[in-house]
Order: sequence, then structure tokens, then C-alpha cells
Amino acid sequence: MRALLRRLSGLWAFLLLVTADVAIASQVVDSVRMHRAPDHTRLVFDLKGPVEHELSRLRDPDRIVLDVRDIDLAYDLAQLDLAATPVSGIRTGKHEDNRTRVVFDLKEKVRPRTNMLQPVEPHGWRLVLDLMDSEPEPVKSMEQLVEAQEGPQPMIVAIDPGHGGEDPGAIGPSGVYEKDVVLQIARRLYRMMDERQGMQPVMLREGDYYIPLAERRQMAAEKHGADVFISIHADAFTDPRARGASVFALSNQGATSARARYLARISNESDRVAGVHESERGNANGLMDVLADMTMSGSMTHSIFLGEQVLEELGGITRLHGNRKRVEQAGFAVLQEPSMVSILVESGFLSNRQEERKLTDPNHQEKVARSILRGVDRYFRHHPAPGSWYAAQRARNGREHRVASGETLSAIAQRYSVSTGALRRVNDIQGDTIRAGQTLRIPEGGAD
Ligand SMILES: [Zn+2]
Repeated sequence: MRALLRRLSGLWAFLLLVTADVAIASQVVDSVRMHRAPDHTRLVFDLKGPVEHELSRLRDPDRIVLDVRDIDLAYDLAQLDLAATPVSGIRTGKHEDNRTRVVFDLKEKVRPRTNMLQPVEPHGWRLVLDLMDSEPEPVKSMEQLVEAQEGPQPMIVAIDPGHGGEDPGAIGPSGVYEKDVVLQIARRLYRMMDERQGMQPVMLREGDYYIPLAERRQMAAEKHGADVFISIHADAFTDPRARGASVFALSNQGATSARARYLARISNESDRVAGVHESERGNANGLMDVLADMTMSGSMTHSIFLGEQVLEELGGITRLHGNRKRVEQAGFAVLQEPSMVSILVESGFLSNRQEERKLTDPNHQEKVARSILRGVDRYFRHHPAPGSWYAAQRARNGREHRVASGETLSAIAQRYSVSTGALRRVNDIQGDTIRAGQTLRIPEGGAD
């Protein structure tokens, strides 16, 4: 049947060629989306197949003209909210040769570009028009930022809400988008961290737009000088029964489970789903170098330790996936930055109906955010960076140790190279009885 159709459509194309003035069948375009990002405006035309198109810029007054062949534009572009964009108005018209002309009147100059995208789940063919803002926001250099600050430095935490814009991430059974849920959780986390002494959060995505994975890492490391990078997700799995939160770090020897490998693969597809330009994609060939750097700098060990703290906190408020208290590892592209301690938090499964509901609940979102905050805080307390607020706190109060289940006083004393007597003294303990979860002060004098 397929073959017959193909042959018929070939014949049809031939007939059209010989009768060139017969109108060519147009594809109906009934869906157009717009995403406003900090540095560009993206328009996406959903298509049934590829189209021929041409882009041009006209001056006096400034406008962008997009000519598309053989489409019937059934979407009313007047519905698009242009308020935050450099576009003042959009006009459309039908011209000869079955050409649809879309004219964008501009308030500010832009650099336009188009990109014809092949189908990738959950999208079909797409024509993307990017209007790049001409004047990027002036950014203070790291030196200026560092000079402006005195005294103990806050630890900088980059919060990365996964997906965005053309990339919805996972879609729950009742239609909840991962990109929306993770942005809500990220905003809560930002507010909590912003109120805390000792840490300074930065948000990598603040609205419904997409940022290439490589750019997320770069923004965090180079623009903000982040110490810690936390990517927040709520992905799906093929089995709708799968549920529970989990935490991931980058791996230097393959994935630690089939699910970790699967999630890393899905996660690394984001750039393709979002339609990132080839020129903006990171270089995946550098992975071996990155892994070597991460191992050398210890950020891999630190990432796993941070992950364990966050996982333990999450375990107190929600089910953990498979009840495993273990940080999983796989080749997540967004975590490949040696200068930062990086984890990816899967806050639950959107593919599970119950968890989909929980993840949209403000109370639950608040709990997830607070767990991440607490885990990060514990990590900073254990590993206070020199010159940081946490280091100043430790110098003032001494070190702290949170007792894990099964730990004995003498094991803790040995770990910090202090005597059990000194531990008893500063913590006011009689005998050897300590309990899990208890925080002990560690007297100075021993090695860490
Ligand atoms: Zn995700």
C-alpha cells in the first residue's frame, strides 16, 4: 500500500511539473509558538513536511520578511504576545507563486536566522525563526564581581531548571510538562537559598525558553563562577509504575544502571528536541578530558558526596526510586563541567499518575526544594571552601559531624584524629551513647 502511494505521489508531482501554473497543494499551518529568552525571540511554525522559505531584512523602517512557499497559514499571528519582544507587529499576506509573506515590524534591531528542523519526539517538522537581540546585556566580569565583595564569600549555586521552550521534557499522563514543574521547584529553591547566609543562588533559566546544554554549563561556570551546579528534572520512564526521587552524577565508567543510562540518553536529546543550532552545541568529544579533569580536581567525588546529602534529605519527604540510597551515575552532558560540583536531581516520575499530581502540588514542591537546600547546606558544612562564609563559620564554631546510623564515638574520633575524651567534653556526652542524626561538634586540632 505504501509503495503504491509513493508511486502515485511521484506521478502526481510529475503532473504538477508539466502543468506548472496549477496551484500546488499547500500544507495547513495551524500552530505557531513563541518563546521569549533573555537574548532572543523564537517563533516556531509546526509543519507537516519541509517547506521552502526565504528570509530578508528591510530598512526604513526596520523589518524582517519571511517568505514561505506552499503553506496556508491558518494560525492568527495576532494572538502572539509581543510585549517583551523587539517586534511591534506582525502582518501576513498571500503573494504570487503560492508564497505566504510574514512581515515583522521592529521596535529594535535584531539579527534573524531560520532553522528547518526534522521531526523529533514530541514534534513533527518545524520551521524556527530566531530574532537575536542585537545588544546583549552588559555582564560584569568575574574580576569586577570578586572585587566588589569583601569578607567571607558566599558559595555560588547555579540552579538549572531542565528543558524549556521547544523542549517540554517529560509529559505526564494528564498533560503536565516537566519544563513547567521543574521551573516552579527551581524558583522555590532560589528563594530559599537567597534568604540563606553563606550561599548565593543564580537561576540559569527564568522563563519558558530553551538554553543549550553546553551554554548552561558555561553560564554557570564562566559567567557566574558557580561552585555547585544543580539540574532539576522530573522525567518519565517507559514503565508507568516507576516512581520515587533519585540523584545523579556524571560517570567515568559507564552508567550505574539501565535507567541511569536511559535517562542520560533522554536528557542529552534535549538540544535536538529544542532545535539548537549546530554551532551552539557543545563538543561531546571532549568528554574523556572532562572526566580526567573532574577526577583530578576531586569534583567527581564531591559531586557524589553532595548527591548523597541531597538524596538523604529527599528520602525524608518522598519515596526514593527503588529505595536505593545511592547516587546513580551516567553520561549526562549537562554535568560535564570539571570546575563545578554537579548533580542532577530527578524529583519524581511525571509518567506516574500519583507523582504527576504530587509534583504540581505547591506544598510538595516546597518540600523538594527544601530537601535540596538542606543537602547543599550539609555539603558546604562538610567541605567549607577556603575564604567562604562556611569556612568562617567553622573557624568560629568548630567543625560539625552528623552521626550516621551505626557510627560509634570512637570511629568518629578516629576519623577526625581527636580523642574520644575531647569529643565527650565539647559535646557534653557521658559514656559512649550517641544517636543517628545527632550533630556533634568536633574540636579543632585534628586533621580533616
Ligand atoms: Zn528532564
